[in-house]
Amino acid sequence: MDCIFCKIAAGEIPCKKLYEDEQVLAFYDIEPKAPVHFLVIPKAHFASASEITAENSAVVARVFEVIAKLTAQLELKNGYRVVTNCGPDAGQTVHHLHFHVLAGRPLYPDMA
Ligand code: 5GP
Ligand code: ZN
Repeated sequence: MDCIFCKIAAGEIPCKKLYEDEQVLAFYDIEPKAPVHFLVIPKAHFASASEITAENSAVVARVFEVIAKLTAQLELKNGYRVVTNCGPDAGQTVHHLHFHVLAGRPLYPDMA
């Protein structure tokens, strides 16, 4: 499958890694939209949040555990936003489930 985030998860394409375990990888976005902008992905391929089911949702809980750990480590005391884009109206461009974590500037009123 020609999926850029599967290739990053497999170590075939380099990334600026923040965290990795057996299930999850966190790395900085190549085109940051805020002073802090990283992505957290399950290593397993899901096209989007629409593929989450009762059988596979444990990895999403793991993603949010990692987000809590990393945002604490990065001392994002003013807060942060977590976004997942799903489908064309949301502007999803990479079709491997990923959660954006944005911080370091006021993120309102825009929903980017
Ligand atoms: P989407 O619009 O699908 O939610 O966001 C995809 C994100 O992945 C974008 O913010 C884009 O900058 C980022 N991205 C795309 N290709 C790469 C890549 O090869 N490396 C990294 N680190 N980020 C990427
Ligand atoms: Zn993939």
